[in-house]
Parts: sequence; structure tokens; C-alpha cells
Amino acid sequence: MKLSKIAQTVCPSPTLSMAARVAAMREKGIDIIDFSAGEPDFDTPECVKEAAKAALDENFTHYTAYAGITELRQAFADDLKQYGLEYTYENIVVSNGSKHALKNAFAAILDPKDEVIVPAPYWNSYIDIIKMCYGTPVVIKTKMSNGFRVTIDELKAALTKHTKAVLINSPNNPTGMVYSREELEEIGKFAVENDLYIISDEIYSRLIYSKKLLHCSIASISEEIKERTIVIGGLSKSYAMTGWRVGFTASNKALADAIANIQSNSTSNVNSIAQKAAVAALKNAKEDADAMLKQFEHRRDYIAQRISDIPFLSNLLPKGAFYLFVDVSKLLGESVGEYKIETAADAADVLLEKYNVAVVPSDAFGFENHIRISFATSMRDVVEGVNRIERFVKENF
Ligand code: PMP
Ligand code: GLU
Repeated sequence: MKLSKIAQTVCPSPTLSMAARVAAMREKGIDIIDFSAGEPDFDTPECVKEAAKAALDENFTHYTAYAGITELRQAFADDLKQYGLEYTYENIVVSNGSKHALKNAFAAILDPKDEVIVPAPYWNSYIDIIKMCYGTPVVIKTKMSNGFRVTIDELKAALTKHTKAVLINSPNNPTGMVYSREELEEIGKFAVENDLYIISDEIYSRLIYSKKLLHCSIASISEEIKERTIVIGGLSKSYAMTGWRVGFTASNKALADAIANIQSNSTSNVNSIAQKAAVAALKNAKEDADAMLKQFEHRRDYIAQRISDIPFLSNLLPKGAFYLFVDVSKLLGESVGEYKIETAADAADVLLEKYNVAVVPSDAFGFENHIRISFATSMRDVVEGVNRIERFVKENF
């Protein structure tokens, strides 16, 4: 009896695997500072929890429309207006987190042999999601000297007759890079000229650390770009709602109908109570989300400075999301006790095993020589975690 080819190739999510390793060590009583999974440490806002309790008391516990309740679809459409996007509820499908929204989107557009251009560093799950939808990821390694932005020349070089879509993620996980409107215009033009879909993962759209730099959705640039774009979003990151599993796709109506059909035969609707909670988040929790953003910014400023002050480590200042992507190449080739540090994964292992700090090595993101630090954790842990990383470098290099 054989597993399917897909089951044999799909890897466990490296971010979630690292989080599981942390949980196992904590169970043994080891005090770990966890910079692995990108999961806000904040509690879900009170008004969201109240809405969930009310939904339960009102017995809102049955199947809903499979694309989501109209009230929530419209609330997502209304929320996107802040980025100059005009959608109605008919363009939105509510899914089980944005991870599921990505799976739905790729299932709706890919046939076997179709290629998707994915600039690296990328968020780890893209590759496996594309493969699960019978597509082939074509990875472009961006350069730190370009701020990890993909260039049009790089896109052109990756183009083949099988290219079906280009994936962009701004603000980016793991680098914190944010594309400007001009850069997105160029990428949009490239997609139009080559008749490609654009999958635009905008889950971190609310998490940008500059008053001047506003989030730009590529779909807001022109009607012809919007028509071929599937915007991906969700509530996990900005509203501290990772466990509720609420995400969405926004697209033209034909695509939205196809995505809804796919979902109707797989997961059906998102949990009914979570949908009511999500409406409350979008309508009443903006102040809570803004307060969390302020905290993230404070942590970002602190950690980016402290890490760049440590000898042999360097990083760019993340403009969005809540990750610091740290270049550890100067540590490679050295030994720490019984450990030989050849790769970023070796550095991450020593950090975890000897200094009890969990980070994610960059091979998870299709890149080498970096570790990703998630600062979506308490300030106390941020300070203690950086102290441990500083000790690791100062004691051994
Ligand atoms: N996209 C990106 C870029 C992410 O970092 C994540 C992390 N969770 C997701 C999608 C998926 O988030 P969720 O399924 O919780 O909405
Ligand atoms: N997206 C988060 C991360 O990058 C959560 C983990 C995951 O869903 O893979 O850490």
C-alpha cells in the first residue's frame, strides 16, 4: 500500500514543527524563549469573545452558507475599502484561516504542470500548498542588497510557457519587506503582459510600522490587475485570533464562485461562532488592533537595534509583519562544544539546545544563512531572548 505522491512529498510545516519542539521541551520543564511561530501573544479582544458567547447563547450553531455569512463577507469587503478596493460580499469567500484561503485559491487556478513564481524568502507553506494543488513552484531567490524585493528582470527570467501565476506577500514573512506602490505597479504590469494570475497574500496589511508607508494592495492599482488578482487575508495576526481560523479570498465573482464550490465540497463553512466573532472584530475591535500594533512596533524597535548591536549578526529593519530576518553567515564554519555550525539550521539547533531560544532557520523559507525571530511575544521574553542570543554569540565567536 503506497501513499499518494503528494503525501510523500509534502513536508510538515517547519514553523509549526519548531513550535511543537518547544512545547515538548517545555513539558520537560525547560524554560524556553519562543521566537518560532508567528503568533501574537495577546488575548483576543473582549468584544470578539463577547460576540462568540452571544452567538452560542443564540444557538447560532448550525451550518451557514458555505462561502460564509453575508454579514461577514460584506464586513471583509468593507474593510478592504481602506486600501481603495471596491468589492462586495459576492467577491469574498470566508475560509478556515488564510492558509486555507491560499489552498482554495491555488485549487481554483492550477492544473498539473502549471507553474507559480514564488520569490524567496517566502512563507514556508506556499511551496507545499502549491504542490498539493498539483502545481509546480518556481522559486526566485531575491537579494538582501535589493531589500529582498523581486525585480522584473528576475521575474522575466523565471517565466516559461507553463507559468500560471505569481505570488507576492507584502508585508512579507519572514523579512518584513513591504513593496511600494511603484514596485507593485511593475509586477502588475508583468502579470497583465503575460496573462498571469496574481496571488497577493496580504495577511499582514494592518501591521506596517510607518505612518508614511501605507499598505498598498496590488489589486488597487488598476481594474485589469484587480481582475486577475486573488487577495488573501485573515484575522489571525492583526486581531490575535490565530485559533479562530478565519481568513478570506477576495477576487472577481467567477473566481469567488469557483472557490466557494471547492470549499462547499471540502470544509463547508467556517465555524459559525467564529464567523460571528469575526464580524465583531472587523466592526468593533479596530482600537484593540491598533493598540497591539503599537506594542509590536515597540518590540520591533528594541529587538532590531539590540540584534544589530551584537557582533557578527546583521539584519534589515522590518517595515511590516512581526519578524526579524537575521544574517548569521559570519557564524558558520565554527564549533560550539560538540556542535559544528555549518548552516543556519545548526545555529538554530545550538540556540535551542544550549541557550533555550527557539528561532526558525531560513531553509524553511527557501533561503540560506539566516534565522527568523518572531517578536510576536511579550517584551519580557523579547529582552530575555535577545540576552540569550547575545550570550550565544559572545561566548562562542
Ligand atoms: N500567510 C502568511 C504570510 C503567514 O505568515 C501565515 C501565518 N500563519 C498565513 C498566511 C496563515 O495564517 P492563518 O492561516 O492563521 O490565517
Ligand atoms: N504563519 C506563522 C509563522 O510563520 C504561523 C505558523 C504557520 O502557520 O506555519 O510562524
